[in-house]
Amino acid sequence: MTQAFTKVTAIRGMNDALPGVGARWESLEEYVRAWMRAYGYRNMRTPILEHTRLFTRGIGEVTDIVEKEMYSFTDALNGESLTMRPEFTAGMVRATIEHNLIYDRPQRVYAMGPVFRHERPQRGRYRQFHQIDVEALGLAGPDIDAEMIVMVARLWSSLGIQDVKLELNSLGQTQERAAHRAALVQHLEAHKDVLDEDGLRRMYTNPLRVLDTKNPAMQAMADAAPKLFDFLGDESRAHFEGVCARLQDAGIAYRINPRMVRGLDYYNLTVFEWVTDKLGAQATICGGGRYDGLIELVGGKPAPAVGFAIGMERLLDLWGQYQPETSQSECEVYFVHQGESAQRRAAVLAEALRDAGISTIVHAGAGSFKAQFKRADTSGAAIAVILGDDELAAGVASVKMLRAQGTNAPTEQQQVSLDNLVAFLKEKVK
Ligand code: ATP
Ligand code: MG
Repeated sequence: MTQAFTKVTAIRGMNDALPGVGARWESLEEYVRAWMRAYGYRNMRTPILEHTRLFTRGIGEVTDIVEKEMYSFTDALNGESLTMRPEFTAGMVRATIEHNLIYDRPQRVYAMGPVFRHERPQRGRYRQFHQIDVEALGLAGPDIDAEMIVMVARLWSSLGIQDVKLELNSLGQTQERAAHRAALVQHLEAHKDVLDEDGLRRMYTNPLRVLDTKNPAMQAMADAAPKLFDFLGDESRAHFEGVCARLQDAGIAYRINPRMVRGLDYYNLTVFEWVTDKLGAQATICGGGRYDGLIELVGGKPAPAVGFAIGMERLLDLWGQYQPETSQSECEVYFVHQGESAQRRAAVLAEALRDAGISTIVHAGAGSFKAQFKRADTSGAAIAVILGDDELAAGVASVKMLRAQGTNAPTEQQQVSLDNLVAFLKEKVK
């Protein structure tokens, strides 16, 4: 006797995008490609799996991601520790170093795809989620930082999204952070009593991250902490002012948030986030900044870089609030047929329609005219083309508009010569 098979479901925190939602994903991806072309960015794809040490090195040991969020496992074949990418930047940087891309000219690159983090699933927080990742490698100035931010603003406006706000900060350079760090550790030591477990653990390993806490009991302590901004030297300040001036040129409003440090270790100078109050607790839809030290840290010759990532699920959620779902049809033309020769003729005609750019479904299998019409209707097609023995004998097809212009009412059928069918339909679906 065979045992009943327990139904297999998706892994918690990993979502299916069913066809209706899939259409939204596709149109977002189309927007992104056009948007990236407009700024001269080129698509790049790196593997989902990388050596674990790329991320521990590149992201930093004392970060949420490396401490508790990575999907890592040992490759049974050779004992290597591998990790499903929790973000794109480390892999993108590894690839540009490995293939010597950045040393003769700067690279403007982007990627879209799944990333993996072991987090507690909730709205806007998943274990497999998707990012749009954009990187400018080999460029050092505030001009490119500002352009990246302006670029993101353009995406929001082209999607019709409002109510996203820009927050900005500068993390300065290593020496400046070291001076600030000493002052900060002193401050934390003086307020040990309010630090939670994470805070105590990170106090010496990553004190800046302690300020990034969401724990309400630590807010007052964090607000009163020495501000990194006050430790910045002239060059760092000039860089920051250069970014701000260009944002003003572009008419982009921002708020300076001196406590923003971003989750990853590798940032310096400009950091930014776009936040919204329309997504509940998961407020950040885009985060980025400059990471001039990373390329060297993961084995390349020193080169500056800046980039950002957008969470696609959060973006789709937000976009949907401005542009409610529109039902998407499966095709423009649906072929209804009777008899084998009619079906075969329909299949050939359908290829000619597709050549002409008309999306076409030929009813698969047999079925009464009535049943086939029902399918034609649920497909959302604008037009049904009917081919039976009589039509074939006369060298014509019957064409029926399923959705008359501006109404949902079907119209009368009309006969069109098969020689003329493509031209006729092309006129109709325009
Ligand atoms: P958060 O503070 O929300 O955890 P983060 O700082 O970890 O965000 P980044 O590493 O900067 O996020 O990733 C860039 C973007 O990816 C975020 O701004 C967010 O839109 C999205 N994102 C991050 N984690 C998740 C997740 N678990 N599920 C869905 N989207 C996410
Ligand atoms: Mg996070």
